[in-house]
Amino acid sequence: MSHSSPDHRTPTTPSGRSRLSIPGSGLAKGLAVTLRTMTKRTVTEQYPDAQPELPPRSRGVIGLFEENCTVCMLCARECPDWCIYIDSHKETVPAAAPGGRERSRNVLDRFAIDFSLCMYCGICIEVCPFDALFWSPEFEYAETDIRDLTHERDKLREWMWTVPAPPALDPGAEDPKELVAARKAADKLAVQQEAARTAETHADEQARAAEQPTRPMGDSRQQAEQSEEEGRE
Ligand code: SF4
Ligand code: SF4
Repeated sequence: MSHSSPDHRTPTTPSGRSRLSIPGSGLAKGLAVTLRTMTKRTVTEQYPDAQPELPPRSRGVIGLFEENCTVCMLCARECPDWCIYIDSHKETVPAAAPGGRERSRNVLDRFAIDFSLCMYCGICIEVCPFDALFWSPEFEYAETDIRDLTHERDKLREWMWTVPAPPALDPGAEDPKELVAARKAADKLAVQQEAARTAETHADEQARAAEQPTRPMGDSRQQAEQSEEEGRE
């Protein structure tokens, strides 16, 4: 029984057909690629001389709006990387009115995010019920020491200045509930102020009427008789 062995010296295509090589064809192909690329628009960004145009919702760094944070710990609990560190203590707030109850509230002592562990998933921002965390497109915060990538609350607050304004609402969208509540409160206040103004004007008119001297009855009768006589003449 005879076996035919393939000729390994001839290059073949994947389908098994032999591929003929023309001398210089590789060079021609390379030049063709070079020419094609030369005529295309360049996509290279000259960073850092030219800043890149980032999409408005880019995930660069996280900013903390401390005034909104109630230290509920939700972000720290949900962070998959456990890279949010929060310390707090409780404080007693005296009763707002006499006879009322004292309340206790959480006071923030430390809020830090370790960006060397963060994987920019955005879960902390999504779960925060009080809008205290925001994405900033700022990305130039590389450090030579990894420990400096833990940003404490002051630094996180500074990032808030780089957070872009929220995009405009869709024309057909409902107004946000905060805006509706603010409008209702403003309308109520305007009605109260108008009622107070009307009551004040009414009280002024009454006071003016009370100050006017009242004529005695005899005067008016004399006046009527006098005018009657004048009419006869
Ligand atoms: S973006 Fe994700 S990983 Fe980073 S701090 Fe927030 S929850 Fe943690
Ligand atoms: S979830 Fe929001 S409010 Fe709660 S601790 Fe985190 S940042 Fe503060």
